[in-house]
Amino acid sequence: MGRQSEAEKAGLLLAAARYLNETLEPGRVYDRFHELLTDAVPHAGVVVSSFDAETGLISCEYAWVDGEKLDPAILPPLPLNREGGGMQSRVIVGGEPLLVNDVPEQVKQPGGVYYDVDREGKLRKVPEEGAPGVRAAMMLPVKLEGEVVGVVQLHNADTEYDEEQLELAEGLVGLMAAAARNARLHQTAQAEAAARARAETVAAAREHAARVLEAVGDGVFLLDDGGRVGFWNRAAELVTGRFGEDVRGRPVSEVFESWDRIADEIPVSESSTAARPVTLPIDVEGRELWLSFVAVHMPGGVVYAFRDLTVERGLEQAKSEFIATISHELRTPMTAVLGAAKTLLRTDIQLSPERRRELLEMIGAQGTRLTQITEEVLIASRLDRGDLRLDRERVVVGDIVRAAVDTMREHLPQSISLRVKGESNGATAIGDRNRIEQVLVNLIDNAVKYSPRGGQVIVSAEETPAAVRVEVRDEGLGIPLAEQDAIFEKFYRHDAHQTHVTGGTGLGLYICRELVRRMDGKIGVHSQPGVGSTFFFELPRA
Ligand code: ADP
Repeated sequence: MGRQSEAEKAGLLLAAARYLNETLEPGRVYDRFHELLTDAVPHAGVVVSSFDAETGLISCEYAWVDGEKLDPAILPPLPLNREGGGMQSRVIVGGEPLLVNDVPEQVKQPGGVYYDVDREGKLRKVPEEGAPGVRAAMMLPVKLEGEVVGVVQLHNADTEYDEEQLELAEGLVGLMAAAARNARLHQTAQAEAAARARAETVAAAREHAARVLEAVGDGVFLLDDGGRVGFWNRAAELVTGRFGEDVRGRPVSEVFESWDRIADEIPVSESSTAARPVTLPIDVEGRELWLSFVAVHMPGGVVYAFRDLTVERGLEQAKSEFIATISHELRTPMTAVLGAAKTLLRTDIQLSPERRRELLEMIGAQGTRLTQITEEVLIASRLDRGDLRLDRERVVVGDIVRAAVDTMREHLPQSISLRVKGESNGATAIGDRNRIEQVLVNLIDNAVKYSPRGGQVIVSAEETPAAVRVEVRDEGLGIPLAEQDAIFEKFYRHDAHQTHVTGGTGLGLYICRELVRRMDGKIGVHSQPGVGSTFFFELPRA
């Protein structure tokens, strides 16, 4: 390549600037720089090194020797020699380019470390391992804002370099430095954008997870290693009645009063898949809750999730009590029926006609009781399932009262007098005739049952402006005020009555309430223990 005119040089540099800036990849910038050099400055090798002022190290970024591009990593980073030994160091310290046309002489001087690389990438330390096959070299500082940030080294095997070539090379290095910096800035910006996007994705995922935790039906809380509450979600607030802002940062034993007692019973697993739930009673704000807990270790603490099983637990208990009650209730009449039947079948004893009659009556009565119990259980379960259809017809309530009282009179003990007070004068209501009679029979049956010392039972029906009201009044045991609501709940039986009265499932009043409600009526009781009770129900007037 011949010598260029100033105009040619300017044109070359302009084209170079364009060409270098077309790429935003640092590696490609060096490739293009080398391509431009090929046309502008003859050379057998090019090495671009960067200099890091902080570490004081000079590291190879790009190397091309005798027609081969080499992996820059094979050239070990060299420490800067501030005393000026070594050509690269001299350029970095001085900031001025260097032109050397007697390289073998230069490398003999003490203070510098030189490497000679061949096209296979083999590295030789010079001069210990012999003189390099290089005659001329240029060292050009790479500057950014006045600071030297690297060195470009060009060398030639036989031809010398002159000042003009040096100048041109300097110009190209300047352009390369700007393009490389541009590319690096672009890369950094892209890396930052990618990191920001990743961080945003992670933050969004976290926020989503936090929102999910807020929304889940299970209570979730975090205990740090010091046993203090960190996270406390909405469901935890709903179950315990304690708000997040009150409990966060506090010891968990202030929230769950019996925590210290139960904590050991909750196994803390290492992964959520291995977590095994345990259900435990725990006191919160003076209430006993049955909570099912799972616990999983997390860095810095333990995450607990819990579910409120108090209602389920209560139902389980009621169910098992109910089964115990029912089996007891069924066994009593059945034993009586069996006993009576066996006696009647005996051939070895002579039974008087009265005795036979008594036994047969007992079988009849106990059989009726058995039917009643199974009937109650069936109706209660149909009411629960919601598949009990009720008629809506006009009914003369007085007629039903009379029918129910007549039915009940047949089985009354001697000590009870049952009567109807006043006539309802044909008051009509809307409802299901059979179900109204069932309610009434149930109330009269209770009135008799819970009057163990006998007394009067009075049934009345009267019209009010909006309803027809039926009352059943007794002079029996009465019900404490505190239990007057509870007796209408399923399976509920007043403890003290059990000693006086056997036989009962706790379903009767529940069935009455549900039937009356389904006829858009209401039911209730006024009672005084030891004095008596008045049960009433009202049905809409026709
Ligand atoms: P059961 O009679 O089968 O126990 P009920 O549901 O009919 O069930 O009644 C629930 C409870 O209400 C009874 O166990 C009893 O304690 C109380 N009770 C009902 N009727 C009366 C009454 N007339 N006098 C006193 N207590 C009553």
